[in-house]
Amino acid sequence: MKLLPSFFKKKQIVIVPQNKHAMSRNLIERSVLDIMGRLRRSGFQAYLVGGCVRDILLGKKPKDFDIVTNARPQQIKRLFRRCFLIGRRFRLAHVYISHDRFVEVATFRAAVDPEQAAGEERFAAYNVYGTIEEDALRRDFTVNGLYYNSADGSIHEYSGGLEDLKKKVLRSIGDPAQRFKEDPVRIIRAARFCAQLGFNPSKADFKAAVACAPLIAQANAHRMLEELYKILRCGASAGTIENLQKFQILPHWLREIDPNNHPGLLPRLVAMDRRRAGGEEVPIAVLLTTLLYDLLEEAMGSLHRFQDAFNAIHQHFNELVTRLCIPRREWDAMCNLVARQSSLARIPDPMKGKGFEKRFIRNAHFPNALMFFEIYVEATGRYGEELKYWKERAAAVPRQPDWQQHDRPGGRDGRHRRRSRHPHQEVKSETNN
Ligand code: ATP
Ligand code: MG
Repeated sequence: MKLLPSFFKKKQIVIVPQNKHAMSRNLIERSVLDIMGRLRRSGFQAYLVGGCVRDILLGKKPKDFDIVTNARPQQIKRLFRRCFLIGRRFRLAHVYISHDRFVEVATFRAAVDPEQAAGEERFAAYNVYGTIEEDALRRDFTVNGLYYNSADGSIHEYSGGLEDLKKKVLRSIGDPAQRFKEDPVRIIRAARFCAQLGFNPSKADFKAAVACAPLIAQANAHRMLEELYKILRCGASAGTIENLQKFQILPHWLREIDPNNHPGLLPRLVAMDRRRAGGEEVPIAVLLTTLLYDLLEEAMGSLHRFQDAFNAIHQHFNELVTRLCIPRREWDAMCNLVARQSSLARIPDPMKGKGFEKRFIRNAHFPNALMFFEIYVEATGRYGEELKYWKERAAAVPRQPDWQQHDRPGGRDGRHRRRSRHPHQEVKSETNN
């Protein structure tokens, strides 16, 4: 196999010393520096790469730290006590730094000539280990291909990432059309990074993204769902959807979504982005509902009774749910929260008694329903009074332990409660992400 495609060969490495850039050791977690130190003391190379270097150089807080090394997965495993290798084809090491946090340590991968690697073979080919130069050239965008060496504080660039970072340009490494053909998911990533970082795509990237947009239909649906979650969580989902519209991707991926026909969509996403930017957890069911609400609302029509609304939505979107690979559990949660919106949009008749209200508030789906309702109210400016009412009532009604909250999906509020076989056992919250 030819390992270095011709367009990769021209670039030269540039090493920028510590005093010539804004990245410093103080901005990196101690435990991450420790892992890199141990790798180096054992005779291996170790660099930070990807989003963490990019984000620190842009003055942002990185989401996580990714380390790359020339140590092979088994060698990494031998060095760290709490280390697990994941992936069947791509062996990656997860080195745990606390009981629930790990740092990803990957071995340099070789660049692959996309002409020679197609389909399954392409993924197998990715697993060929390589040098740092090869690793740098198989990455997606120049700003994601910067390596930080914690030993001397230098940054190694192989494709002009620092200049692009300054100019706020997102540029593929190599020929964008070829890179997008090789992996069309990169177009979606380009749309997200541009929105998240406030960048523009290079002219060539923009042209290639539009030209390659139809290829997205062939991408793996599970991977695309992961990308969709990333978009909805990134704090810039409204901008990303606008970019996807500019790239003409939506008809090939989320053909039901059209911001021009659904004027409520972008304001809802902006309201959700505000929460995410403030670090608030938003459950998957709420993220997806925020994106798809116009369709769900249309299917619900003027049905007000919970069960009717639930059934109408549940039966209507089988094809969409299957195509996007939305897990059934999330889909049930979405139908449940959407079917509760019409109850939230009115203040209950005091004659109806407080029993309904208490059951409604104590239902396991209420928190999701209220969170989405709040997003809706923020986006539309409607139902402010009703939101205030429900928030006050929710604060006044104590939550029951989780084991008492489970409802049959679609069952009537507060009725048909499934009895837990172990009523005193803690159950993980349903709304956890
Ligand atoms: P984020 O802040 O979203 O985590 P990131 O740049 O760290 O941004 P990841 O998805 O975590 O993105 O990937 C880490 C790195 O792996 C990227 O910076 C990039 O160098 C490389 N990478 C990820 N996906 C691809 C891809 N599809 N093609 C080429 N390189 C990729
Ligand atoms: Mg990352």
